[in-house]
Amino acid sequence: MLIDSHAHLDSERYADDRAAMLARAQQAGVGAVLAIGIGNGPAEMHQALDICREFNGQPGMPRLYASAGIYPHTTTEAGNAALAKLDGLLAEPEVIACGEIGFDYYHEGAPHDVQRQGLVAQLEIAAARKKPILIHCRAKDGTTDAWDDLFEVLEAHWRQTALGGVMHCFGGEWEQARRSLDLGFLVSFAGNLTYPKAQPLRDVAARLPLDGILVETDAPWLAPVPDRGKRNEPAWVTRTAHVLAGLHGVSDQEIASATTKNFFRLFRLPPDVGN
Ligand SMILES: [Zn+2]
Repeated sequence: MLIDSHAHLDSERYADDRAAMLARAQQAGVGAVLAIGIGNGPAEMHQALDICREFNGQPGMPRLYASAGIYPHTTTEAGNAALAKLDGLLAEPEVIACGEIGFDYYHEGAPHDVQRQGLVAQLEIAAARKKPILIHCRAKDGTTDAWDDLFEVLEAHWRQTALGGVMHCFGGEWEQARRSLDLGFLVSFAGNLTYPKAQPLRDVAARLPLDGILVETDAPWLAPVPDRGKRNEPAWVTRTAHVLAGLHGVSDQEIASATTKNFFRLFRLPPDVGN
C-alpha cells in the first residue's frame, strides 16, 4: 500500500469526478491520502475535513486524513478569527497535521515578516494540539534565504516540541534535507522528482535514508511524467514512488512499505488503514 501524503482534494478541479478520482487511487494501490486543508484562504480551511467525512467509510475508497493551515501567502488573513478556526480544526481527530505552512519567497505575495508572524502563531497552536506540521518552503532561485529563515524559526519554536513534521514537495539541496532529518522531519517528494531537469533533486533523494522519506502528489499540481502539465491525482503517486525505488535500488513494494511505515510513525497512527 502507498500513501499520498499531500493532495489538495478540495480543489475545484475535482468538482465533477472527485469520487471516481479517489476510486482510481484505491485501485492503483493508494490506501490513504492526506487531504490538505488550506483552500484558497483560511475561510476554506475546513474543506479537507469535510471531504474526509464525506468519503471515509465508503467502500472502494482510500482512507482519508485531513490537515488545516494557513498558507504563506494567505497569512495576511491570519487574524484572531482564522487562528481560532485553525485551533478548532486541529482538535478534530481526522485532522492529523497543521499545514501547509512556512515560507514562500519565490512568488510575490505576503511580506516576509507577515509570513513569519503567521508561521510562528500556527506553530504555537499546532504544539498545543500536539499535531505535526507540513512545511511549504520555496526560496527564490539561487538563494537559500527562505530555508535559512525557516530553520531559524523551527529551531526557536518547534524543535523542543519533538512533534516533527514533513518537508512537503521538497526542492532544496542536501544541506536542507540533512537539517530536516536532524529536526525529526520526513522529506516528501512529489511528481517533479520525475522531471528531466530534476537530477540534482534525484541525487538528494538517493542519499536520504529510507526511514526519512515520504511520497506525495501535491495534486492537482505537479503531475509526474508522462502527464506533466495535466491535472494530477493521487493514483499517480505510484510513478514518483517508482522513481524513488530506482534511485535506491529497491523494489516499488519496498518504497511503498517504507513510506507507509514512516507516515504512521510520524502521525502516531495505528497501522490498520484502509476500508
Ligand atoms: Zn500543497
